[in-house]
Amino acid sequence: MSTLPLYHLQQIDSRMESIENELSLLLEPLAEEKGFQEVSYSYERVEKKRKEAERLQKAAEMELSSIESEKKAVEKKLYSGKVTNSKELLQLEKEIQQIQKKRDVMDERILKGMETLEQLEKESSFKKKEMEAAKASLEIAQKNREGEKTNLVQALDELKRKRENQLQAINLEWIDLYLSLKDKKDGVAVAKVENQACGGCFMEVPGTLIQKARSLEMVTCSSCGRILVM
Ligand SMILES: [Zn+2]
Repeated sequence: MSTLPLYHLQQIDSRMESIENELSLLLEPLAEEKGFQEVSYSYERVEKKRKEAERLQKAAEMELSSIESEKKAVEKKLYSGKVTNSKELLQLEKEIQQIQKKRDVMDERILKGMETLEQLEKESSFKKKEMEAAKASLEIAQKNREGEKTNLVQALDELKRKRENQLQAINLEWIDLYLSLKDKKDGVAVAKVENQACGGCFMEVPGTLIQKARSLEMVTCSSCGRILVM
């Protein structure tokens, strides 16, 4: 029986192992996931600020309108002709001046609030676009990853079938030897002889062993114990 099927089995197993590694890497979170989370969080923070600024602005506008009503009421009283007492008239004028001061303060606040709100609106719409772009990238990355995963799983299934076939061509004794070597030798039980050296441990292989390996006999490396094939 030829030892070559063992070498093919080794190739299949190595490939399967590397695919399994690739698959396990695909379980890691996507970089795009983190990017999307960061910009979403950033957008939410700006939106929160924007909503708060909007709320304050509405409250200030309501206050202004109540100040205006207050002023109108006092002015109405002042110009109604019903108040004739000069002291009382003076008092009403003073009141109007005070209300006007409050109004000026409120006007200033509303103006500043408007600037703040505009700034936050711009920022929020920018962040929203950023978030949408990040979401699109994430979706593409997720789709790509799914595709990669499908391909790897398919390749793995294909290799499993090949492995089953390969096992049919090898006697059980050799399979046992192969499996126990594979466990001990970091997954590599079969080594090619290249330049008269073992491809596993790189030690020189004596000519007699090379002869045997060439005639497809079962030969193991005298240093590392791996099965040698030519
Ligand atoms: Zn060796």
